[in-house]
Amino acid sequence: MSAAIAVAVQAEPAKHGANRKRKSRCIAACDDRERRRTRASKREYMRRWRTDPANRDRERLYEAGIRESRKLRDLQRDAARSTVNPKICGCCRRLKAVTKIERMRATEEGFAPVVVPYCGQC
Ligand SMILES: [Zn+2]
Repeated sequence: MSAAIAVAVQAEPAKHGANRKRKSRCIAACDDRERRRTRASKREYMRRWRTDPANRDRERLYEAGIRESRKLRDLQRDAARSTVNPKICGCCRRLKAVTKIERMRATEEGFAPVVVPYCGQC
């Protein structure tokens, strides 16, 4: 429907810059109304869909899968970041390392000393 209105509005000959602006605003408003109507209808459909317990279970499983994959992704990212590059500072990971410092790292058996490259500034 909004496409038909948009075509009808565009078919009129353009006279002045101000008119053109007003027309484009009208098209935007029509699109916005259409979009709001579509969103409301989709929201209502999903509300009805969730009333079925089988669908609710399906959605719960889907969301649990998303949470698990995010957790795995974060763990993999942390593991990738923890690899020590001897040329880059182990604290800020931006500046060039000029020395090495000893830091304590938490392990399952308690704290253990670790030698970390350090920039001397951070
Ligand atoms: Zn640093």
